[in-house]
This record gives sequence, C-alpha cells and structure tokens, in this order.
Amino acid sequence: MPRLDPVVDLDQPNDDQVDPVEYWFATGEGWDDLSQEDRRRALDLLGVDLTESRLEEHPGHASQKVHGRRGGVSPVTQAVRDFRASVAGGGAWPSVGETGGLMDPVSGQITHLRRGEQFSVDFTGVPWDEMKGKVLIHSHPGADAMGLSDGDAQVAVRANLAEIRAETATGSVRMLPGTDPGVTGNRWSPHRQQAETAAEAGRIWNESVDRAFAELDKVVGTPEYRSPDLAKLTADANRAVAAAMGWQYIEEPAT
Ligand SMILES: [Zn+2]
Repeated sequence: MPRLDPVVDLDQPNDDQVDPVEYWFATGEGWDDLSQEDRRRALDLLGVDLTESRLEEHPGHASQKVHGRRGGVSPVTQAVRDFRASVAGGGAWPSVGETGGLMDPVSGQITHLRRGEQFSVDFTGVPWDEMKGKVLIHSHPGADAMGLSDGDAQVAVRANLAEIRAETATGSVRMLPGTDPGVTGNRWSPHRQQAETAAEAGRIWNESVDRAFAELDKVVGTPEYRSPDLAKLTADANRAVAAAMGWQYIEEPAT
C-alpha cells in the first residue's frame, strides 16, 4: 500500500517479528536464504509500489530558475553544503538517524527541518500543498551511499516535489520528474495527462513499472548480487526506475 503520510524511507523492522526481507534490507545479510518471492519483495522495497496507480493530480509548480549566485556558488549549492555539515555535526557521517527538510528550489532556504528515526524521517503534519514544488532533502546515514527508497519515490510523486534528494556519506542522489514541456500537471506522472481514462492511465503506469522491474531482474540475475552490494543495487534500481518512469536521476559527489 502506498503511504498516505509523507514518511520517507523504511520503517525499522518490527522487533517482535523480524521479516527476513526487512532484516536483509536493514543489515545486508541473509540474501542467500530468501525465497524467490522474498527477493522479489526485497526489490519492491527499492523500487516503486506496483499497485500505485491512483495518483492524485496537482497543478504544476513554477519552473525552476537558478539565479542569485553569490561568489560563484548558487544558494542551493550552499544550502546543501550547510545541510551536509549540520548532519555530520563537524564529525564523521552518522551511521544512524536521518535528518530531513524542505528546501526552496531557488533560494535554497530550508524549512521543516526534522530529525527522524534510525532509517526514516517523518513529515506528518506538513500539508501536501506545502511540499509541492519543494526539494525534499534528507540524509541517508551509513557508510554505504544508499540510493532512494520506494518511500522516497512515493512521497515525490504524491507531493509533486520539484526534487527528492538523499545526502549520503559520499555525495548526493537526486531524483527529479521529467522535463516534457507538454506536461502541465504533475510531471512525475505524465501518464495522467496522456491517458484518456483512468484505466488507461493505470495501464501506462503499470507498463512503466514493469519495464523498471524487468531491468532490475537483469541486474539481480548477475552473480555479484549473491552477496549484494546494497549501495550499487539501490543505485541501479534508482537508475532503472527513473529510466522507466521518464524521471531524471543524478548522482553527484559531495562538494
Ligand atoms: Zn530516503
């Protein structure tokens, strides 16, 4: 089920009953013991919810313009640097605990800054309309540069963000919607405008997701994923989902 609250990333595994898939996701261990079905479910955690076909439409947000550079550094670049510095707290990149906020895509101003849980940060209470057109910036703790999760992608689509980005130990992982100028509504889900009926929109969406997972299946069919490199797997998953959905996926080293 898609989340209705804008919760980013995965919840921690339930302490009473540890799901082997969640355990794998949290620890990177136990892949060899997973059934094919569980592996599929594990990959679903990295992609986009297969069942999500009832996206709400939102008015489009204003196009982004980068201006107001100060000393050769854009306000957004400076804001990202400041955010990363605050997460690191002057020390090493944290191994647990997410931090997130909403960043203006032009001024770089960050609001709604929140400290989250071990592997999630919760924006419950922030109206969807306040998130629309903003950049959701949040940290992914840990030494591995983990890419965006399905929760991240769902919040981006549902809130009609300008961008969702994760700051990792090594840099930034960014997902942005498509740039087709013919799309006037939510650019994350242009199929809503291409289709003449809701059923048609759902079919197009599902085809995109199927393409994404077909690409993922090729990736995980390789021997290296018997002991999965989670950082590479999430990066490959993000890339495949972006390509199938017509989204932009960008990786940048920390500056
Ligand atoms: Zn995330």
